[in-house]
Amino acid sequence: MSVAPVLKVAVNAPLARLFDYLPPRGGGDARPGCRVLVPFGRQRQVGMVMELAAESELARTRLKHAQQLIDAQPILADDDLWLLRFTSDYYHHPIGEVVAAALPALLRQGRPLATESELISLTGTGAEIALPLLARRAKRQAEFLAALAGGPLRAGELDERLAGWRRQRQALIEKGWVRAETVAIDESGVPEPVEAQPGPALSAEQQLAVAGVLANPGFSTTLLDGVTGSGKTEVYLCIIRELLAAGRQVLILVPEIGLTSQFVTRLEERIGQRPLLLHSALTDAERLVAWRSAANGSAPLVLGTRSAVFVPLAAPGLIVVDEEHDASFKQQEGLRYSARDLAVVRGKRLDVPVILGSATPSLETLRRCDEGAYRHLTLTARAGSAVPPLMRLVDLNRFPSPDGLSEPLLQAIRQHTGRGGQALIFLNRRGFAPTLICASCGHIAECRRCDSRMTVHLRDQALACHHCGATRPLDNACSDCGSPCMPLGQGTERIEEALGTHFPGQLITRIDSDTTRLKGAMDRALSLAMSGEAKILVGTQMLSKGHHFPKLTLVGVINADQGLFSTDFRGGERLAQSLVQVAGRAGREREQGEVIVQTSFPGHPFWKELFTGGYHRVARYSMAEREAAGWPPFSRLALLRASSHKRDDAWAFLEDAARESAACNPGGVRVLGPVSATMERRAGRYRGQLLLQSQARQPLHQMLAALTARLESLSSARRVRWSVDVDPIELF
Ligand code: ADP
Ligand code: ZN
Ligand code: ZN
Repeated sequence: MSVAPVLKVAVNAPLARLFDYLPPRGGGDARPGCRVLVPFGRQRQVGMVMELAAESELARTRLKHAQQLIDAQPILADDDLWLLRFTSDYYHHPIGEVVAAALPALLRQGRPLATESELISLTGTGAEIALPLLARRAKRQAEFLAALAGGPLRAGELDERLAGWRRQRQALIEKGWVRAETVAIDESGVPEPVEAQPGPALSAEQQLAVAGVLANPGFSTTLLDGVTGSGKTEVYLCIIRELLAAGRQVLILVPEIGLTSQFVTRLEERIGQRPLLLHSALTDAERLVAWRSAANGSAPLVLGTRSAVFVPLAAPGLIVVDEEHDASFKQQEGLRYSARDLAVVRGKRLDVPVILGSATPSLETLRRCDEGAYRHLTLTARAGSAVPPLMRLVDLNRFPSPDGLSEPLLQAIRQHTGRGGQALIFLNRRGFAPTLICASCGHIAECRRCDSRMTVHLRDQALACHHCGATRPLDNACSDCGSPCMPLGQGTERIEEALGTHFPGQLITRIDSDTTRLKGAMDRALSLAMSGEAKILVGTQMLSKGHHFPKLTLVGVINADQGLFSTDFRGGERLAQSLVQVAGRAGREREQGEVIVQTSFPGHPFWKELFTGGYHRVARYSMAEREAAGWPPFSRLALLRASSHKRDDAWAFLEDAARESAACNPGGVRVLGPVSATMERRAGRYRGQLLLQSQARQPLHQMLAALTARLESLSSARRVRWSVDVDPIELF
């Protein structure tokens, strides 16, 4: 008789290893990719069988049996398990937590892959009851039986038709009139195909891009680099259609799902297939249905945010990452992965093409193109008859703007709206004003839990900290001297108010996370913007991405100067990206657009680069700077972060960590720090960090593997929260 294999199981715990179990006593074939229920400490946990082994490091007699096999068939294929292991190794994050992050909540909790529901039906006796008679004694029971007269109904369907049926259920079962049974529902949640509309004839450049990707059905990475409106989406659509026709699935990753309704509509119109959506706003049940439809292949087209990069696909054919430069692809807490980078890794493993699209590609991606690892396809012209917008600077030293709006900007708004156009005023700062200052002693209202200022929210009569979420009532008397305080600086709320005074009678719509918090508010605001009813739009970053406003001809940027003096080496890249993205909103149809940027530093070299050569000139300039300074993409970084309630605890840990790093440095890794974070105290915790930098990837990863193992056993680690961030995009 052959010996039972040892199950290597990933358990959701902050420990970087697999746990060994014997197969469940009840039998069943616990293969890799199946979930099992295992005893873990004093609890039971849902675990994922990652592999089978002949032996364990522990004696067999010391191993426990798994208690139960949850999945008769694996729910993750070998390629999926491979991706999870890769993610765990690359980001030095516990495998059990990686598995947990990749699974929908219900699967993580051990619920079956096929959803279950109660099916209620009439029994033979129940069907013969004279309802009018019954209704005289027991009206609700009669209604219940009547509802079932047309055939069995699921619990969910009954909920919709007959509130309160659950109270009658047991009594009717006991009378033998109705029967309840548990059934598996395998609904796919996949929208029905509809008729597709033909698209425009592709330009020569677009045709080249389509042919380039389709020429090789295996793995390749293509950067599709083109300004907003150059027809990138049209290229995706053509490639997607080919792959769907060949019976393959397509996975599209986007930075934020709230901004993709236009993309979804276009997919539906042109491909004839609404994509299956995977994002965080789904309920747990919806998420499970969507996940299952992707995994079993019934969903041809899957569109999702970051975490969708992990969704299993039965017949993958293509992965598209739209707006690949967007920081939202990087998860900033817990498992700090880059969905864009994992998409490329996954495409290689699955041997399918990967397309990265952007008007403002990241320097990392441009560098991979320079090295020849990615194909660089450019769309140079705007599609159709649209022309690129005119850009100009307004020198705030010459044109003071006490309320944030300079005379040239006001004049431009007047002209554009007068001609029937629409203006978008962009300011990446919500609230009324970023500072509340005492007019007499200069005291500034600060957050009590962070090293930061409170933002004034006038409409809510509140002060809010945008770093920890703390709020308190707005008090106009200084807490130090009692004199009146005043708001200093501009936020979107204040700009909206100022615009209201300059343009009375115009419909002004503000779109930021404050005005769109309520359900449906975003859709309402967007439809006002889209129809052109709102003449002036005021908004944050939220408005700069992905939208197509047909009437929009003017974009005004209130203040770009913060980005000019950023301490982060990515500051220039980020500023150029956000300006070009927001500028891309202007004049997408026949009208030429205009972009006005207000600055107090018109002589800064950044402007010359941007205005003479656009984004790519800034990118080349930054690339040279980074090469000289040895920053990514010319080196590899990892950041070890720690925080604690007592400042000394974080420092003690980081100093231990610095010592340990020196001890496990294979050579070639620079250890910088510890240093405190720019905002040292946040939400009551003191934060510090250690930066690891290396020319090559290999020594850095070798060191991280050794280091994380050592850190787990440090006594100073018990008093802090710590995390490793590989390829961090925020350094401070
Ligand atoms: P991007 O994704 O780069 O912003 P889109 O693919 O959305 O660009 O194209 C912008 C607009 O131009 C859309 O309205 C699209 O239908 C249109 N368009 C794209 N390609 C062509 C083409 N070859 N001929 C005419 N119009 C086109
Ligand atoms: Zn004061
Ligand atoms: Zn705070």
